[in-house]
Amino acid sequence: MKIAILPGDGIGPEIVAQAVKVLNALDLKFEMETAAVGGAGYEAHGHPLPEATLKLAKEADAVLFGAVGDWKYDTLERALRPEQAILGLRKELGLFANLRPAILYPELAGASTLKPEVVSGLDILIVRELTGDIYFGKPRGVRVCPDGPFAGEREGFDTMRYAESEIRRIAHVAFQAAQKRSKRLTSVDKANVLETFQFWKDIVSEVAKDYPDVALDHMYVDNAAMQLVRAPKKFDVVVTGNMFGDILSDAAAMLTGSIGMLPSASLDANNKGLYEPSHGSAPDIAGKGIANPLATILSAAMMLRYSLGQAEQADRVENAVKAVLAQGLRTADIYEEGMTKVGTAEMGAAVVQALR
Ligand code: NAD
Repeated sequence: MKIAILPGDGIGPEIVAQAVKVLNALDLKFEMETAAVGGAGYEAHGHPLPEATLKLAKEADAVLFGAVGDWKYDTLERALRPEQAILGLRKELGLFANLRPAILYPELAGASTLKPEVVSGLDILIVRELTGDIYFGKPRGVRVCPDGPFAGEREGFDTMRYAESEIRRIAHVAFQAAQKRSKRLTSVDKANVLETFQFWKDIVSEVAKDYPDVALDHMYVDNAAMQLVRAPKKFDVVVTGNMFGDILSDAAAMLTGSIGMLPSASLDANNKGLYEPSHGSAPDIAGKGIANPLATILSAAMMLRYSLGQAEQADRVENAVKAVLAQGLRTADIYEEGMTKVGTAEMGAAVVQALR
């Protein structure tokens, strides 16, 4: 099992080091190779996604990614900015399925802005299509409006579209994820207004016939946004398009109130994936040894489950994270009075200890 380790910038190297420590503590043999990406790639090779890094990512069975970006690169031309590395990797590796769990451990219920009884124990998975929809549809741009009441004025426009195979493949990912959980799937659309999403709904319903053990329901995106805040625990797996998923997954993440806890996976058609925390490079706290490494450690657990076929080891890592939280250990971002405040490396070491 070969893992490409791409720590990136800011807190990236600090948090990835903890996840590597945890992986090394498992009774498995990995080949790990590290390469520069983002600002670090630009500094070392003049490009945020150096050729050697991309080659390594393509050869590996999975990629463990830290975070990229720093304000000091804001004046670079867009193609050379660190964040372009993520877009490049998604495109080059064909990563069309983004899996974002939002889990609120009962010990951290106080961190949410919602009432503890509404969110405590929350455990949902949002499956977002990542390479299609209005974000990539063509034509797009600014033009002179050809007809209608605004004819002759300038207008901005984009194209929303999904090909049948794009919908089918994300639906399969979502149904299979649901099979591994509570066997409930909600497909979110706007079929009442948009042709693209009526088509989406029809195709998802067709794919459902391959998964008779999974209960599928459909929900309009406006209702889904409302239900996510009103009664989030009613959801289990949610599948939706790129734009709705972008918005809903951030809302779901924030239900948990602790960005340092949330992992993510982006998968290709063969379950090869890129695993990264949902947060950024946090330049404000980089180098201080106080970043929360748990989102990255939980991303490594997702990697074990989805790309490396090691579900039991993934459970072990997730249980170790629960154990350190139950022991009262907290990094600064999730600290509450009466708990034990620890730094990045101490938190990583505690997870390793709990594994043993
Ligand atoms: P951010 O997620 O880096 O930070 C937001 C806030 O959360 C900051 O106060 C930060 O200190 C805190 N935070 C984030 N992760 C934390 C952790 N593990 N432990 C404790 N606190 C944590 O978002 P931002 O400040 O908007 O962006 C900073 C840089 O990161 C930018 O250059 C941005 O482009 C980049 N970014 C990268 C990714 C990625 O690599 N996938 C994602 C988002 C933002």
